[in-house]
Amino acid sequence: MNLGLRKYILKCPRCGFEIEANPYVMRCPKCGELLDTLLITDKVRFNWSNLRGRGVWRYRELLPEVGNVITMGEGATPLIKLRSYSNAYVKFEGANPTGSFKDRGMTVASRWPHQ
Ligand SMILES: [Zn+2]
Repeated sequence: MNLGLRKYILKCPRCGFEIEANPYVMRCPKCGELLDTLLITDKVRFNWSNLRGRGVWRYRELLPEVGNVITMGEGATPLIKLRSYSNAYVKFEGANPTGSFKDRGMTVASRWPHQ
């Protein structure tokens, strides 16, 4: 699958400020709002049903080229149905390698291309 990934843009939902993706910028320098990430591709639609594998790296096609991936299965955590609600599920993030949801971001951040 090739999405024709061109780049990521960080955009402020409050004032519209835009900046090229930067792992060190999370808030808008103009108004302080958290920035949204926009994925700019050549294709209009992405078919989620084409995803294969488990964990964070199943979304690899949506990421910048990162080379070899080193993973311990981050994000491949079980989905648990709640007893008290018939159609509600929660992800058990304690099943990540270090027991934290932060493993998801760290495995990707550790492979972020150095520019
Ligand atoms: Zn802003």
